[in-house]
Amino acid sequence: MIFMGPSIAPRNATTVAEPLYFPTMETITAATKRVEKAGKELRIPDRGPRILIYDIETAPALVYVWSQWQTNVIDTHTDWYILCFAYKWYGDKTTSFVSVQQDPRKRRKPDDDRYVVERLAYLFDQADVVVAHNGDQFDAKKANARILFHGLNPPSPYRQIDTKKEVKRYMNHYSNALNELGRFHRLGEKVGHGGFSLWKGCMAGDKDSWKTMEKYNRQDVNILEVVWLKLRPWIGSPGKYQPMNYGFWSDGTTTVCPKCGSDDLIKRGFHRTLVNTYQTLQCKECGGYARRRLPQPKYGGSVGAV
Ligand SMILES: [Zn+2]
Repeated sequence: MIFMGPSIAPRNATTVAEPLYFPTMETITAATKRVEKAGKELRIPDRGPRILIYDIETAPALVYVWSQWQTNVIDTHTDWYILCFAYKWYGDKTTSFVSVQQDPRKRRKPDDDRYVVERLAYLFDQADVVVAHNGDQFDAKKANARILFHGLNPPSPYRQIDTKKEVKRYMNHYSNALNELGRFHRLGEKVGHGGFSLWKGCMAGDKDSWKTMEKYNRQDVNILEVVWLKLRPWIGSPGKYQPMNYGFWSDGTTTVCPKCGSDDLIKRGFHRTLVNTYQTLQCKECGGYARRRLPQPKYGGSVGAV
């Protein structure tokens, strides 16, 4: 439990405004309880790593403008919010879907996404790793903005795999959109939708629009999973950014592939630096490479240039 103390703003300073509100122990506990209550109906895998594959859909802000062309927003009528999200735990067969439409409160305002955000916050809190396409820039940050808005605590730390970032790190496709990656690699395509009219329909509570949205959102998560799995042997190659390592969850007695967790590894020669020699390993399951430092350098006589 993190205690957030009172503001450090000097009491009598006239230039620094006193904060209107800061969370106390009670509200942090209350917010935690609220999220845990919301998450009660959600299934959480009993073993790690708990990998959450997810995709959120947002409703746009409604604003006033004087002109259509290169315009400024004069005022905001309704803020953007999260309409829905689809997710699956890695290892699950089916996806799940959570939307504002499922909120049982009768007098809910159309833009009140509390039901959705509390559940998403719970899933983040339970996850060891989250996977999303452009998730670092979009999904996780949008979710965080709404988590903050609803006065919830930050989810406990998790690792992020952003498939868009990873695909750009290793490959050059002519489009890095999830749909295009799915099509290019013959992994599946998005469910077609009527463009923005679908979002408008959902915002207005139209049942048919919600049916299409659910199908579309779930299919996005299915494509995301296969795109991630296709990329997985590349992600976190030696010397590159490694978002997760299955070794963290192993019992410490078996060497496992850091990328997929398999213990079916074969020796594939050595990687040498001036100070160390590494055994290069390749996973027979996913094809990814790993390396293990050997206790003694094979060639102690190497010297560096000066
Ligand atoms: Zn592997």
